[in-house]
Amino acid sequence: MVQSSLASQATRGLLTLMGALTLALPPVLKAAPAAAAPTTLSYSQLLSDVNQGQVRAVVIDPEEDMAKVWLTSQPANSAPLRIPLFDKNTELIQALNNHQVELSIQPENDRGAYVGSLIQIFFILLLLGGLVLILRRSSGNAGQAMGFGKSRARFQMEAKTGIRFEDVAGIEDAKEELQEVVTFLKKPERFTALGAKIPKGVLLIGPPGTGKTLLAKAIAGEAGAPFFSISGSEFVEMFVGVGASRVRDLFKKAKETSPCLIFIDEIDAVGRQRGVGIGGGNDEREQTLNQLLTEMDGFEGNTGIIVIAATNRPDVLDAALLRPGRFDRQITVDLPSYSGRLGILQVHGRNKRLADSVSLEAIAQRTPGFSGADLANLLNEAAILAARRRKESITELELGDAIDRITIGLTLAPLLDGRKKRLIAYHEVGHALMMTLLKHSDPLEKVTILPRSGGIGGFSKPIPQDEDGLVTRAYMLDLVTIYLGGRAAEIEVFGPDEVTLGASQDIRTVAALARQMVVNFGMTDLGFLGVEETDEGMWPKNRPEYSEELAVQIDRQIRQIVQDCYAQARQLVRDCRPLVDRLVDLLLENETLDGDTFRQIVTDYQQQAALVSTPV
Ligand code: ADP
Ligand code: MG
Ligand code: ZN
Repeated sequence: MVQSSLASQATRGLLTLMGALTLALPPVLKAAPAAAAPTTLSYSQLLSDVNQGQVRAVVIDPEEDMAKVWLTSQPANSAPLRIPLFDKNTELIQALNNHQVELSIQPENDRGAYVGSLIQIFFILLLLGGLVLILRRSSGNAGQAMGFGKSRARFQMEAKTGIRFEDVAGIEDAKEELQEVVTFLKKPERFTALGAKIPKGVLLIGPPGTGKTLLAKAIAGEAGAPFFSISGSEFVEMFVGVGASRVRDLFKKAKETSPCLIFIDEIDAVGRQRGVGIGGGNDEREQTLNQLLTEMDGFEGNTGIIVIAATNRPDVLDAALLRPGRFDRQITVDLPSYSGRLGILQVHGRNKRLADSVSLEAIAQRTPGFSGADLANLLNEAAILAARRRKESITELELGDAIDRITIGLTLAPLLDGRKKRLIAYHEVGHALMMTLLKHSDPLEKVTILPRSGGIGGFSKPIPQDEDGLVTRAYMLDLVTIYLGGRAAEIEVFGPDEVTLGASQDIRTVAALARQMVVNFGMTDLGFLGVEETDEGMWPKNRPEYSEELAVQIDRQIRQIVQDCYAQARQLVRDCRPLVDRLVDLLLENETLDGDTFRQIVTDYQQQAALVSTPV
């Protein structure tokens, strides 16, 4: 702007000079002023023009003492004539007034300069805007870090989980107890009228995959109440104090929407005993836990907020969490029994196309130890297999394969025939034969030498029997013999020099079984020794509470059991060596033998042997 006014001042000076010198100028010089000011008038000429009525409009720029003049003879859109003015132009203005010439007063604005300044303004605004944006963003980040605990998305509120109690199967006891919680949420008056306090907290305890999370969702679905869910690990964050503020936030929100449910999954992540653990306590977690305890005490009995928490590690929970008034109800959610598994299979089988021949009962029978999640996974795996095999529906075959896949591992390509394959075949036939010959064993389901992931060369598998049945001494002894059957067959056939590492897992299991029989179950003539904790944790348990003399006796008993069973296994293999060879040949040929086929061959052999040995 400064620049443009300077330029116009210079022009004006030049123009003034020009006015006098126009005629005297040599043609060379004349070109320049002509370009700068195409037309001009002298002041007196302007006055006379005005007086003669030849002026249409005048614009006076007082800042630069310049008048722009449009003559009536000029076309309307042409450039104005420029006339320099003196300080006061009363004479001119009077004349303009007299002749009613349009007059306006306006600072001179060079159009180019005007545009230029517009562009400048634009850039400055842009710059400012950019700055503001950057500032806003970084301060937004800062704000985020500050209000980290106030994360909106961290806990989800699901008013409708879409899950009902009927979707949860096999954990009837837990369901029943929780049904009451639903009643609390739906008809609190029924309880408050009697002076009963609504429970504040319900703790679901059970192994992973048993449906704790599912159960909590079902409660929300049934009660039709808002459902805040957050995982314990989400409470514990890097920033100190954030976990605690998150708890505060959660409860604040919940109070606004009560009656409602707060579900804290995997609460052991926050609720661990304070001041313990490797490397001392965890300050952040303790603060979070303290906040949780405070909040649970803070809301009065009947606000309509019920906290449900789930864990599979109740042993590590802080005692303060478990005292009455907090999680005063504890519900155990166990691995499903046979009927539970059947129920879960039915729930998840609803939307699967199962072949008519499929018996869910048989599958429930074959899957002891499976959790609800395992069973859901099993059906899904089977469906995927059936799709891959381009089948119309899921058959027992896919289900069986899916079970093996989940329990044992992925099937690998069969081994090429060779020494290793033969050895594995003898080993597995050893196991399978024991299972078939021994009276107290579970029946063989199948034996296979198809390798599986995890270094498994093959396996023999029993059909698990009624898990509610009693485990007897005879059953356990037979189990030990079955486990030793693999190694026994190897030794009988290949000799002691050829034994392999293949039986190491078997041997470990045998040692554990035998020890339990002696020490825990009192199944030997040593009598009752009392319970010895088996160490499951990281640290070995204390020394057993018996004398060294007794320890020697225990070892002797254990060795006795293993020796007897091993001898029995070897004897059985030796006794029916032709049968073993025949079974191995068949197994090498087919890679897998099912229990029925196996038993049939054994029976045939036994009948023949009986015929041969019976004196006529
Ligand atoms: P948890 O929280 O106990 O570890 P989940 O509730 O997350 O286990 O269960 C995982 C999945 O397994 C569920 O979504 C459901 O599909 C299935 N599932 C587990 N238990 C059951 C059950 N009792 N009835 C039906 N489905 C179940
Ligand atoms: Mg869970
Ligand atoms: Zn084995």
